[in-house]
Amino acid sequence: MPSKHVRVVVRTRPTGRFAEQTFRIHEDTNAIDVKLPKSDVGGTVNNQVDSFSFKFDRVLHNASQERVFDEFARELLGTGGTGVLDGFNGTCMAYGQTGAGKTFTMVGGPANFAYRGIIPRCITALFTAIAARPECAITVRLGALEIYNELMMDLLPYPSAGDTAADQQIQEDSKGGVSVKGLTRRVALTEEECLQAFFEADAARAVSEHSLNVLSSRSHFVVTLFVESRSRVESNERVVYSKIHLVDLAGSERLKKTGSFGATLKEATFINKSLTFLEQVVVALSDKRRDHVPYRSSKLTHLLKDSIGGNCRTMMIANIWPEGSHVEETVSTLRFATRMMRVSNEATQNIQLDSQQLIRKYEREIRDLKQELAM
Ligand code: ADP
Ligand code: MG
Repeated sequence: MPSKHVRVVVRTRPTGRFAEQTFRIHEDTNAIDVKLPKSDVGGTVNNQVDSFSFKFDRVLHNASQERVFDEFARELLGTGGTGVLDGFNGTCMAYGQTGAGKTFTMVGGPANFAYRGIIPRCITALFTAIAARPECAITVRLGALEIYNELMMDLLPYPSAGDTAADQQIQEDSKGGVSVKGLTRRVALTEEECLQAFFEADAARAVSEHSLNVLSSRSHFVVTLFVESRSRVESNERVVYSKIHLVDLAGSERLKKTGSFGATLKEATFINKSLTFLEQVVVALSDKRRDHVPYRSSKLTHLLKDSIGGNCRTMMIANIWPEGSHVEETVSTLRFATRMMRVSNEATQNIQLDSQQLIRKYEREIRDLKQELAM
């Protein structure tokens, strides 16, 4: 698959206080214009405005959950031989200030089927795609973690794993692939089991936030679907595997606005740091400085190494809250989203040889060779 830029959609949070003098949202051309009164110098009143124009892959204004999935996020699963079931990775992350709708977009709203977010819809779509491939034996596993203050917590630990708040470590394989050492990967045989594991992880996030006194806006929530596929018909040793990262990022608001102090200040500094590092990674990649990308500067950027500028089909949802009091944060989110569109990724198929099958193949070859020798 040719390299492709990170696909970016902007989603507005519906509001009765939409600042129509400030924001012009063009769904038809996928553009957003922001007009701001020019800060008057020396107290002179003027009618000048600063205006900014942005263009994205998609702009969804007051859109339903269904539209967001069908018109954008569904693409994550891919089609026609380059999908998740064919061994191609996917990542979808939500970025934006607290209150802009990231969790609503990724996880969903309260107990209403229509409000389900991208994660449960992705699970449903994945199992639908699996049902359409009876010729493959496909295994799905779900992992979930939370990153808070540079601490990475497994949200689905096995009961025997002990301290659930234990910090998890990231490891890299010889091909530069990244994984979390010892992360629980819950096998899900059906869509229901997979949704159940996800709901459990979401509930565990709430519990850990409560016990650590963390606001969800200050942690990153990462749900990963690991997919492994073997052919049932061809007896070869190929295993294609892939992973889908679904990420609800911490609030992107700047420190000055949070009015934090003490422990909260430490938190805000860490959270802002990991998002700042994410920004630095994106800046380095969008400037095509591929050899100086500071992936290892934080757990978040290290974990997403494959997903940003790597072997992945990547999509970002920039959530904005288009009210007058959020203009600055909105412009900052739109600027970051614009940068993100300049990052290109190259997704390649992940294939591995099944060691059991390989051993059997070599055993057959050895037996044949022995027979030849004996003749
Ligand atoms: P964030 O995770 O970015 O801090 P939330 O997803 O928690 O923001 O959204 C803040 C509030 O706004 C929640 O009560 C949520 O239900 C509501 N909300 C956000 N986006 C939408 C939307 N598109 N439609 C309806 N309600 C929304
Ligand atoms: Mg949230």
